[in-house]
Amino acid sequence: MNILLNIGIVLATFFFMEFMAWFTHKFVMHGFLWYLHRDHHQGKEGWFEKNDSFFLIFAVPSAYCFMTGIMYNDFRLFIGIGIALYGLCYFLVHDIIIHQRFKIWRKWDNKYVLGIRRAHKIHHKYLGKEDGENFGMLIVPMRYFRQGYKEQA
Ligand SMILES: [Zn+2]
Ligand SMILES: [Zn+2]
Ligand SMILES: [Zn+2]
Repeated sequence: MNILLNIGIVLATFFFMEFMAWFTHKFVMHGFLWYLHRDHHQGKEGWFEKNDSFFLIFAVPSAYCFMTGIMYNDFRLFIGIGIALYGLCYFLVHDIIIHQRFKIWRKWDNKYVLGIRRAHKIHHKYLGKEDGENFGMLIVPMRYFRQGYKEQA
């Protein structure tokens, strides 16, 4: 078995998913599916957000790749693993560490976490569908990681 190739497929899929998340956020969530993303910007009633449906939407290609990858014993399994890993990281970073939806991990403040949090907080300054910046999640512009970077008020 070609273990390095399989790890490579997982990693490539992971980074491709950051691109897909950026693309989907910018052109779909702030586009024709804005009605599902709106409550993430403007507030919600209960604990769940309509925005959470995107986890289900992204679970579909992952599940498809897992199933066919196992059935045909091919590379699709590793694409499925890559998508699932990305979804897990996105949830840990965006929902737990940045938005603090659970009462854990509230004191994370290493350079990386501070940088992506600053970047995403700026995304949340925009309450509407149009405009906006920082649609990516795990990869953001370098300036947010610089020491002494101040959020514009
Ligand atoms: Zn948004
Ligand atoms: Zn968002
Ligand atoms: Zn957010």
